[in-house]
Amino acid sequence: MAESPVVGRDDLVLVTGAGGFIGGHLVGELRRRGHRRIRAVDIKPLDEWFQVLPEADNRILDLRGREACREAARGARQVYNLAADMGGMGFIETHKVECMLSVLINTHMLMAAHEAGVERYFYSSSACVYAAEKQTMTDVTPLKEADAYPAMPEDGYGWEKLFSERMCRHFREDFGLETRIVRYHNVYGPHGTYEGGREKAPAAICRKVIAATLAGGSEIEVWGDGQQTRSFMYIDDCLFGTYAVMESDIRDPINVGSDELVTINQLIDIVEEIAGVRLTRRHTLDAPLGVRGRSSDNTRIRRELGWAPSTRLRYGMDTTYRWIYDQMTTPSERRRIYA
Ligand code: NAD
Repeated sequence: MAESPVVGRDDLVLVTGAGGFIGGHLVGELRRRGHRRIRAVDIKPLDEWFQVLPEADNRILDLRGREACREAARGARQVYNLAADMGGMGFIETHKVECMLSVLINTHMLMAAHEAGVERYFYSSSACVYAAEKQTMTDVTPLKEADAYPAMPEDGYGWEKLFSERMCRHFREDFGLETRIVRYHNVYGPHGTYEGGREKAPAAICRKVIAATLAGGSEIEVWGDGQQTRSFMYIDDCLFGTYAVMESDIRDPINVGSDELVTINQLIDIVEEIAGVRLTRRHTLDAPLGVRGRSSDNTRIRRELGWAPSTRLRYGMDTTYRWIYDQMTTPSERRRIYA
């Protein structure tokens, strides 16, 4: 594989949030791309990480603290900051303080990265920064990067992301720390949260369909009327886009998301087809729903990278469903966690 123009294979690369879904996959991806020195940091104990790369420098640190960020950044040439206290709509609509306190992670990580002489810093922002008024219809116009302003993002989580995007920009402008910022749109795939309250729609629907099937049930609960629309990006596209943006000259926040728009009912159709079942849908209209419609406008990423996420939802959901099925039917002590 070609040597990266911006980081050597023996330069230390830090991944924060490495015990989580995207961070865990990213550690594996960096290893596959030939990076030999990876530091992986998360607040969770190692046995709760979704994936562990044994040869990485794996550390348990609470990155809300400045000293912990200093320890994490020491000697690093690049930082991928994916650590955040977050989850799906069910979490972010009911845990606004926790979501906003992630500002401590990004602020202290930026300060520590600057002090440590880090050359490049990646920040995982979100489509939740986009203004609510642009997302009130199911047949939504895909969101362009400029649609984040005038600002009225998702309360709590989205405001923190928007503030941290700007903090990244000012560290670049004032201190010369090269920052790269992506706005992920709904990432899904294996090795992510599927139960416990932080899971997002694709994993939650897989879990509900599997649970109903295993129990011989005939019904699942669906949040909302199911007509709300979203696009979902498979983890492989997320990893490719993450690395490509980090290596690029793209300095302003950029969408990394799918533009394959579906209703939640269509997403359930896909999962039912994979499972080979048809279930009755019980719609809960007072559940946390988020915006009415959201998709990614990929004009800019196509122009800048000559690429955009393209994995079909049907393919990605198949892989995701099978992983969740295995998790739900394999005793926890026999589950493997290797990146
Ligand atoms: P995740 O919850 O699976 O991973 C985040 C990780 O950060 C967790 O393992 C968590 O333990 C860790 N963390 C939380 N607080 C920490 C702390 N104080 N110190 C150290 N580690 C801490 O989430 P993910 O889906 O992998 O998301 C990764 C990043 O991408 C997050 O910044 C998230 O906001 C962003 N993002 C994700 C999506 C998505 O659909 N998954 C969409 C938009 C943006």
